[in-house]
Amino acid sequence: MPTTFHLHISGQVQGVGFRPFVWRLARAYCLYGWVNNTTDGVHILFNAESPDAFQQAILREAPALARITDIRCEALPFQEFPDFQIKNSASDAPPNLLVTPDFALCADCRRELHDPTNRRHGYSFTTCTNCGPRYSILTDLPYDRERTTMAPFRQCPDCRTEFDDPEDRRYFSQTNSCPACGIRLECRDSSGNIWDNPLENALTRLRAGQILAVKGIGGYLLLCDATSARAIQILRQRKHRPTKPFALLYPNILMLADDTRLCPEAQAQLESPVAPIALLEVRDNPASGICVSDIAPGLGHIGAMLPYAPLLEILVQKFGGPLVATSGNPGGSPIIFRDTDALADLAAIADAFLLHNREIAIPQDDSVVRLSAKHAQRMVVRRSRGLAPSAPALPRSAEGGILALGASMKSTFAWQHRSNTYLSQYLGDLESFDTQQNFEHTLRHFLTLFREQPGKLLVDKHPEYFSTQLGYRLAEEWAVPVVAVQHHRAHFAAVLAENDLLETAEPVLGVIWDGTGYGDDGQIWGGEFFRLQGGQLDRVGRLAYFDLLAGDKMPHEPRLSALSLAGKWGAGRNMLENKFSPAEWSLYRRMLDKGGLLQCSSMGRVFDGVAALLGLADKVSYEGEAAMLLEAAAFRYFRQNGLKSIPLEMEITWESEVFPVGELVAHVHNCFLKTRSVEYAAAFFHSQLIALIGAAAHRYQCSKIACSGGVWQNALLVDLALEGLRPEFDLFFHREISPNDEGVSYGQLAHVSAV
Ligand SMILES: [Zn+2]
Ligand SMILES: [Zn+2]
Repeated sequence: MPTTFHLHISGQVQGVGFRPFVWRLARAYCLYGWVNNTTDGVHILFNAESPDAFQQAILREAPALARITDIRCEALPFQEFPDFQIKNSASDAPPNLLVTPDFALCADCRRELHDPTNRRHGYSFTTCTNCGPRYSILTDLPYDRERTTMAPFRQCPDCRTEFDDPEDRRYFSQTNSCPACGIRLECRDSSGNIWDNPLENALTRLRAGQILAVKGIGGYLLLCDATSARAIQILRQRKHRPTKPFALLYPNILMLADDTRLCPEAQAQLESPVAPIALLEVRDNPASGICVSDIAPGLGHIGAMLPYAPLLEILVQKFGGPLVATSGNPGGSPIIFRDTDALADLAAIADAFLLHNREIAIPQDDSVVRLSAKHAQRMVVRRSRGLAPSAPALPRSAEGGILALGASMKSTFAWQHRSNTYLSQYLGDLESFDTQQNFEHTLRHFLTLFREQPGKLLVDKHPEYFSTQLGYRLAEEWAVPVVAVQHHRAHFAAVLAENDLLETAEPVLGVIWDGTGYGDDGQIWGGEFFRLQGGQLDRVGRLAYFDLLAGDKMPHEPRLSALSLAGKWGAGRNMLENKFSPAEWSLYRRMLDKGGLLQCSSMGRVFDGVAALLGLADKVSYEGEAAMLLEAAAFRYFRQNGLKSIPLEMEITWESEVFPVGELVAHVHNCFLKTRSVEYAAAFFHSQLIALIGAAAHRYQCSKIACSGGVWQNALLVDLALEGLRPEFDLFFHREISPNDEGVSYGQLAHVSAV
């Protein structure tokens, strides 16, 4: 006599073809029962002598895009079933599941797209259970067509047949559509005229060097010919973006491999279902003729991606070469995703629009990943389409839910709900009103999916952050407690959590280096050494404080960091005079001499200062520009001379747990004066930092070192650390979470989970 068993499977199991997979498997095992999709995961009832074989097969053969976090089995009183069925979703319980990210076009769909005999030949919105949008079209949970922006599109009889056929790749595919019943393209010019043959028209415009706004998966993209310096410069002028690099969309991996040094690991990232932008070292004379100096001035690398949506696939294939593909937003604003906003706000930038009639529910930028050149260490620079809203699970589950509001410059929020951890997509810099509105809107929409109010809020200690103030406002609205977590503690907790180190018994050194974070003492931190020991996260050492000169201006003007740091070694100051007008010079000198300025220990500002001293950047137009130019200069040196740290000529000394960073900068400057090589001095600076980390690990008696903070987006620094500090030390970096401030919200959750 068989028993009826109930399997409850949690995790990322919706929108990944899980129900059809279970159905086929049950048939193969000759089981009777049903499978169902609900707000807390997938439920299966079936009759068998033992549940083990079926359960093992589910774990072993689950669809590639699924992520099972939990599987539970219980025996029930025997029930009779006529066959094995897929039941309709029930959505009564509050959701408890992982929300599925968007997936890039799969190989089967790509093949059909280019097959003239296929009924979806050239159809820009083809999908199947293995690919297509999920999170970006989600209006409610559980994931079913009527709770996505596919709801207005009714399947035609052919699509319906596929949808109902268990043997078909589109069985139960909620995004299923075709040219007969699906989404329609439209091409308009910036005066509002609608053109026939939208695709052909859009292509004609791209070929003529015009700028095209295209409605993609997570929002509007701006495209133009990447081999036309003129088109790129026009885009820069209209977008008010003088130097910040643009990403490129390549037709295929072969053309990309001709233009860049593409390692197998980077290729795997590009071709994965995430299909992010990857930052790749560009070759000296890229074969496709892209204008590197206009696309990424001074950097030596480009951001490139492959077409992840069928519409982009068709466009770039027909165009036949790389296209600039950058988020459609006027400088500093969130990515535009509504048609009305696009037609209004992008009209001054784009010459034409390629749009369609499926709404985007949740806007997202393209994700950006980077791999270090030598050790292929992966880092996520921007976490968005394809990655959000998933996150590595945290050890403790939170009854009632904990909401973390993150930082400010690279804002995200994180949500711990029962045993599930979510990290929102990148939501931009919260200094503009638009971004603030978008942050709150996205947050509220996300929480409505879970039908549960948070029981606790976490914010940064910085009293001026919009996210902090929003946290206190929401806490009042919901009458729940707020806990403030120090910025760099959150960074440290994030990298510990990601590497499963939160509960380790051995001490771990945290090298937490970034641009700005509000410290416990009210000063601006950013060059910190922490230690984890016995569940405590303590700040054990730091860079010597230097003056925070001209406040918010300082990150935009690396020359100010140089001047402030030079104050610590007297003689250096006067050499900087020619970087300022006489009026500026006397003003800043006076401010420094008068004293009483806020102090900072920011490693980001040290990178800025060194870049200015080496003549790489006095003023910058985007965050991190000076540090990127400094890294690029050092990279050129190591590319020629091999990746080997340059030995120190000075001893690393500490003055009661404070490292005199001004002396280090003076040393780099002397090295520059002696050699007159920017590349050598930049490489020397990077080498000194590795020696500093080694010295700190000895001083604080840690054999494990974990690194976090925006400075760790520097792939060269990561490679040098791996090269120079192993095997004496174990090194830990972020792989899934961004090292920059996008990871702070996740770190706030991790910190609460740890202490
Ligand atoms: Zn597909
Ligand atoms: Zn159809």
